[in-house]
Amino acid sequence: NEGLGSWPARRARKTPHRTALIHHGTTYTYADLHDRTTRLAHVLRAQGVRRGDRVAYLGPNHPSYLETLFAAGTLGAVFVPLNTRLSTAELAYQIRDSGAKTLLHTGGGDQAKELSVPVTIEAEGGRYEELLATAPADPVDEAVGGDDLCLIMYTSGTTGRPKGAMLTHANLTWNAINVLVDHDLIADEVALVSAPLFHTAGLNMLTLPVLLKGGTCVLVGAFDPEATFDLVRRHGITFMFGVPTMFDLLTRQPAWPTADLSSLRILTCGGAPVPPPLIAAYQERGLTFLQGYGMTEAAPGTLFLDAEHAVSKAGSAGVPHFFSDVQVVGPDLTPVDTGETGEVVVRGPHVMPGYWGLPAETEAAFSDGWFRTGDAARVDADGYVTIVDRFKDMIISGGENIYPAEIEAALLAHPDVAECAVIGVPDEKWGEVPRAIVVPRTGAAPPPESLLASLSGQLAKYKIPKSLILAPELPRTASGKLIKSRLRATYGTAPT
Ligand code: AMP
Ligand code: MG
Repeated sequence: NEGLGSWPARRARKTPHRTALIHHGTTYTYADLHDRTTRLAHVLRAQGVRRGDRVAYLGPNHPSYLETLFAAGTLGAVFVPLNTRLSTAELAYQIRDSGAKTLLHTGGGDQAKELSVPVTIEAEGGRYEELLATAPADPVDEAVGGDDLCLIMYTSGTTGRPKGAMLTHANLTWNAINVLVDHDLIADEVALVSAPLFHTAGLNMLTLPVLLKGGTCVLVGAFDPEATFDLVRRHGITFMFGVPTMFDLLTRQPAWPTADLSSLRILTCGGAPVPPPLIAAYQERGLTFLQGYGMTEAAPGTLFLDAEHAVSKAGSAGVPHFFSDVQVVGPDLTPVDTGETGEVVVRGPHVMPGYWGLPAETEAAFSDGWFRTGDAARVDADGYVTIVDRFKDMIISGGENIYPAEIEAALLAHPDVAECAVIGVPDEKWGEVPRAIVVPRTGAAPPPESLLASLSGQLAKYKIPKSLILAPELPRTASGKLIKSRLRATYGTAPT
């Protein structure tokens, strides 16, 4: 078995007594993890799960998520993690689209019942423990190769209907190796897993690399900024991954200036543009951000800015991971010159073979074997890539291309701005003009004119939003990305 399913057995052979998982005060060694995943594989097989079948999982971070992933992998079955924030209709779509006939879930199961999947298993509590305890523990012998499918992960759907990215065992393994190499992970790593495991980053940038190396993952069901400092201190957390919004929330806690963060070695931020003031706030606390750029389709690690260059190349997303190749290309698909803006394309053993059941979309997503990310970027003379924005979000005003992310970064530097987003709105003269939507910091009530005035001198005149709306919050996906389509629907036509 060359697949992920063999990891618990391989770890149990090397380091049976080391702690693999901690969840709400319960500790699981690698021997435990191996024993439990083997038993769960027998349970799933007894329920009719066979090679290639899809097994879905619904619930916040919990050991049974990983047990299901590894157990499915042991059988050559395909794991389908579901996003707990989705509506029942959205979940039903992903169940139908993936064809999952088995669903493991935590949290009571009201929603699971509505999904009417033929086999549902409650994956926590007394009954689950009994199910495991009474299942056989002998090894499951199933040949699984690197090119076999390991999971189908639905993209967060900031644009259109979610597509199932198919990831093979090899894709996930190469990504984990890239993370090990580029983060300098050690066996004694203690990771705080508060980013959701149903998204690619929490699973693939943090949890799987740490388990591959034999470290410990502390699983937290929901990110709680207040409780995070205490978790860091109590568990001696060395490694955290978060999206910018999570790291920003930490800086806004009363305990931020005095919290004991001395155990932290590796802080990786990614998944969305990382605002420079955020980098600076952590620098002030003596903490260096590593930055990651990637996407579900690439399992996800693609570009990475390491500790050595975190300051000198701040703002850039770094260079490709060790086993990854990235180019920034023009419309003719040849690399653009230094400093020019082009599209990021990526190729490597971590890139998916395609979208589940969508041959036309798969074909359209690749050119000459390169995956087209749809992201705009520039490369500097040293090969460091700066992500500019998504091409889809680009605003064209009077023939000038405007990337909202640049304006958002400038606004975020204002002390009264907690969050912001920029969208294009129709304009008779210019075709489109930028509009800013700003969430003020608690207690602040900045007049829109003064916020806009703060941008002059910083940005070219045509980039300065023509209007600015204050809002209580912004729509984001569970992985922290702005949902621009919803912003456009809400604020695209509103008078100011
Ligand atoms: P997803 O498919 O949900 O994993 O989202 C991937 C997308 O998130 C990428 O195509 C980028 O648009 C965005 N993204 C990820 N990491 C970064 C980053 N470090 N900086 C800017 N955008 C990012
Ligand atoms: Mg995407």
